[in-house]
Amino acid sequence: MSQIIQKIKELQKKTSNIRNVCILAHVDHGKTTLADYLIASNGIISSRNAGPMRYLDNRPDEQERKITMKASNISLYFESSGEEYIINLIDSPGHVDFSSETSAAVKLADGAIIVVDVVEGVCAQTRTILQQAYNEKLKPILFLNKIDRLIQERNMSTTEAEEHLRRVLEQVNAVIGNIFASDVFLQEDMSKDNQESALETADDSMIYFNPTSGNVVFGSAQDGWGFSLNAFSSMFAEKLNVQADVLNDAMWGDFYYNAKHKRCDSGAYSKGKPTIFVQIILENIWKLYNNIIQDDFDKIGIYCEKLKLKYRPPKKTVANRKTILKNVFTEWLPLEKSIFDRIIKHVTSPADMYQSKLSKLITKDKFAANVEFSEDDSSKVIAFIAKMVPISYRELMACDRALRDIEDEYEPDEQVLIAFCRIYCGVLRENSTVHLVKRDYNPKLKNKEELEPVDIKRVYLMMARNFEPMHEAHSGMIVGIWGLQKFVTKTATLSSSKSCPPFSGLDILAPPVLRVAVEPTNIDDMPKLIKGLKLLNQVDSCVQIMIQETGEHVLCVLGEVHLEKCIRDLTEDYAKIQLNVSKPIVQFRETIMESLQKSSDDDKSVTINARNNTCLIKIIASPLPQNVVKFMESNKEQLKIFASTMEGSSGIEVNKELLNAFSNELKNSDVTQQFELTDIWSIGPKKLSTCLLINKSKYIHHNLLSSETIDGLYDRAIINGFQSAVQAGPLCLEPMHGICFIMQEFIIDESIDKRDSSISGIIITSVKEACRIAFQKQPQRLVGPMYSLSIIANADVLGKCYAEIAKRNGRILVSDMIEGSGMWMLEAVIPVIESFDLANELRVKTSGLAMPQLSFSNWETIEQDPFWIPTTEEELEQFGDKADFENKAKSYMDSIRERK
Ligand code: GDP
Repeated sequence: MSQIIQKIKELQKKTSNIRNVCILAHVDHGKTTLADYLIASNGIISSRNAGPMRYLDNRPDEQERKITMKASNISLYFESSGEEYIINLIDSPGHVDFSSETSAAVKLADGAIIVVDVVEGVCAQTRTILQQAYNEKLKPILFLNKIDRLIQERNMSTTEAEEHLRRVLEQVNAVIGNIFASDVFLQEDMSKDNQESALETADDSMIYFNPTSGNVVFGSAQDGWGFSLNAFSSMFAEKLNVQADVLNDAMWGDFYYNAKHKRCDSGAYSKGKPTIFVQIILENIWKLYNNIIQDDFDKIGIYCEKLKLKYRPPKKTVANRKTILKNVFTEWLPLEKSIFDRIIKHVTSPADMYQSKLSKLITKDKFAANVEFSEDDSSKVIAFIAKMVPISYRELMACDRALRDIEDEYEPDEQVLIAFCRIYCGVLRENSTVHLVKRDYNPKLKNKEELEPVDIKRVYLMMARNFEPMHEAHSGMIVGIWGLQKFVTKTATLSSSKSCPPFSGLDILAPPVLRVAVEPTNIDDMPKLIKGLKLLNQVDSCVQIMIQETGEHVLCVLGEVHLEKCIRDLTEDYAKIQLNVSKPIVQFRETIMESLQKSSDDDKSVTINARNNTCLIKIIASPLPQNVVKFMESNKEQLKIFASTMEGSSGIEVNKELLNAFSNELKNSDVTQQFELTDIWSIGPKKLSTCLLINKSKYIHHNLLSSETIDGLYDRAIINGFQSAVQAGPLCLEPMHGICFIMQEFIIDESIDKRDSSISGIIITSVKEACRIAFQKQPQRLVGPMYSLSIIANADVLGKCYAEIAKRNGRILVSDMIEGSGMWMLEAVIPVIESFDLANELRVKTSGLAMPQLSFSNWETIEQDPFWIPTTEEELEQFGDKADFENKAKSYMDSIRERK
């Protein structure tokens, strides 16, 4: 291993020979097994252990549950055609609860290996990872895994298998087609004609997977083999007397080998002839498998000779078939070679990626021109930290003995953090100083935000569980940095130059909708809990930590599996104390609906007259249409910037395209047609951005979109009143959702003394009160988070899955048989609040045959009126005994009220 590390340290200076790739897969599709094989190729583990070893899953709970929970990197060495390469392989979890880790992995990579189990085909998480890879502009390689299952489990013939593989490939490409089309249609600045022509003229070879383009590898990670078509075309070209590239193009699709004329002809399907893929590839693989399964050693020997393999099976043996399978196939079609070859061919080297990825990396595109990514200028360092990796100080010292001399601030058992980082430019050296570029730093206004100098103490090559000290890291490398624990939370940008804008953070696809309150069992341990929560917050991009007014510490996470991991990390590593954890709390939101009875605006409006006509406010509340709410939710980061301009922040550039798109959305409904963007006074609640305050009064507010300078004397008080109303609604103090408050009148007594500081307080209280009453004048509803749920199960346990989903108020959306697999794919939505312990219960009820995957889907209004109880004879009859009736919305509301 030390030899390889030495080579990598030398080789890193050649940026064009570095490849950064992540491995992405739906849970259980074979990602970890594949990673083990790739690692085994460097002699780090033996290939016999590849698979069961799970080398990158070094947490005890990862080993125990057999799922990956964190992103990690290992630098590997590979030689091809006399050239030497470094492959930085970033592993990431397939489970949706750890999607922030996957976001970190895709952020640092230039390419992705997408692993798909050919029996299960495209699953819920496959779609997500394809979307993530597309969003980050990664060059993808598809690994169609577990082909051995088609032979051994499903007993498919070679032609059936070919058809099956074609269907799986079509499924994957259909998902990519949809992603690409929605991306084009989302580009608001493109006219409809241009969108259509962009779809028509797109270069398919750059978008879709196609075996003849070499971006598809077929194989079985468990048995250690894999191939792309070119492996067979070079193997058989001479024998068939056909040029290798011609043969390669005919290896997939409707071509057969015309032995008489020694050429590849089309029309295999119509002529009922086996395709070249079947004849040359699948037939050979199938025969070898069948001979090994049938213990026909003579035939195995003959085959090995025919394929020019050195391996000779023992004559009479008790050797295990699995070992023979692995031995024969790893020599014939070595998995690591096929994957590494494709990576080198298809994934862009860091030297070539800068321009294509730059717009993805930098938040403020406009400033990107200021950044020069140049690998030649070693003094200009730019690096991005995608996550902080925890390790015990004792383990770190074992990796890096020099630490004993330079640091004794930490206890050996304490968890410390290494920055997981990619160098985008220059050379990062140990014992150097660079700037930490804060998230809101704007190079155009350099002096506004000071850049913080930070010391890079040590730089490490990341070899999964080992951190190998290296004195310097070159452009393109993925490395670990020691010395930044005190400065970095979640992600950060480092730069030696002041003209570098901050990189955008991670794309987090799901919000943390599950919350628990945590407290130490022994109250004296509170400082340890606070320290532990701080570490957890630094490390995990999906965790949010809040301190309630009551002093309670609330942990917000993605789901139950994520929660389990966080609590385990806190108790065992970060705080090392016993904790009391509350039952999960689900966040709700409050909204209003259009009233069925037509009422005039006057009936709906609320007038508040404070302190004898000092301040008169008239407000009306209306629900915002779905399209507007959806738009606001998906653009909340940008809208936050827009909203802060209305509060007087200057120097911020508002994205004009976004505002145009917003203005278009507003044109589509009766309510929103009544106002323009310039009438928007505030957007709230602060972190959610789904409610609007509109100014239709005669008072003129400060408005960045208008060129006039207005002092907006009372703006801040009005906005504060609105924000505090929408932050906690009247149903159960949960944030409001999808409401537009229109200020119809705002009159201030002209004779008051403007220096009277109590005026602000009066305005805040009156606006807040008016918003709340206007809300209460409409039909009020709770809005709850929904999980989308996907299950792959066989027909025997399908009924039990249906029953469980129905019991928990879920709705089945899709129930389809996966062709050729005998399995069913269920897709459903289920309220988060009803989802607890679902995985466990299903496991018990189906004897482990159905495992659900839950991921956040959307916010959904609960139709029941939380105040409604049956009162009339008719209603009582409908619900039988009153005791049987359960108003779910009311019970959710009551339990939140009780808790609060
Ligand atoms: P991950 O969750 O994507 O990391 O998947 P793993 O690598 O842990 O694999 C999940 C299960 O599938 C394990 O039991 C593996 O042994 C098995 N597996 C992985 N690759 C193959 C394969 O090529 N063929 C078969 N039959 N099983 C495989």
